[in-house]
Amino acid sequence: MRRSLNLIFLGPPGAGKGTYAARMAEKHSIPQISTGSLMRSEISSGSSIGVELNSYISEGKLVPDDLTVKMLLKRLECDDCKKGYILDGFPRTLGQAETFEEKLKESGNPLSAVVVIEVDDQVLINRLADRRVCSGCGATFHLKNLPPKVEGKCDLCTAPLTKRKDDSPEVIKERLKVYHDLTEPLIDFYKKRGKVLFFDGDGKIDVIYNEICAIIDRLMSV
Ligand code: AMP
Repeated sequence: MRRSLNLIFLGPPGAGKGTYAARMAEKHSIPQISTGSLMRSEISSGSSIGVELNSYISEGKLVPDDLTVKMLLKRLECDDCKKGYILDGFPRTLGQAETFEEKLKESGNPLSAVVVIEVDDQVLINRLADRRVCSGCGATFHLKNLPPKVEGKCDLCTAPLTKRKDDSPEVIKERLKVYHDLTEPLIDFYKKRGKVLFFDGDGKIDVIYNEICAIIDRLMSV
């Protein structure tokens, strides 16, 4: 049986994690699991948990670890994760990474690699201003770098494209600060475990994606 492909995509908001994770997930027929998307769905459902989640997300703050880990682990129990998964936006704190590491040990199904995508803050600020997401399926577009085929409409499901509320300039600033303070230290955490693969995320989407694919294919063939 094929070894399962268990990946984490790590990087600042706007680095392209979601874009590359979605493509790679399709290539390997495994799910892309974005904790941000799981949370936005919960908010849209109007549940009381959704109200709590929104109070953090709307300000660019991280959702507390216990709530985040609970949502993620529940999603990982689904059958479609048996062949592997790509985590996009999880873990984001040392606490999340440590709890997740314990769970992986218990499951006997280790991480394959952590894909780190690096981009300078100023590039990210410019990028996020022009990011659009599908109000139907959550697919991500960019007005300049990855425009939809029909203006304002999703290529995949034709639902209208919207701007995420947390892509406003003030919230972007806070999200970048949170990334540097709380999430960036995870690079060292995974470096110590020999899992990290670095990619320069400031370039053409197709070129970067092909680089990631080549390295992951090589990793899976040994
Ligand atoms: P994203 O869609 O990954 O950019 O996440 C959007 C927002 O959801 C973040 O700014 C956080 O408020 C929240 N969020 C997503 N993933 C996590 C996580 N792993 N830990 C805590 N908060 C998260």
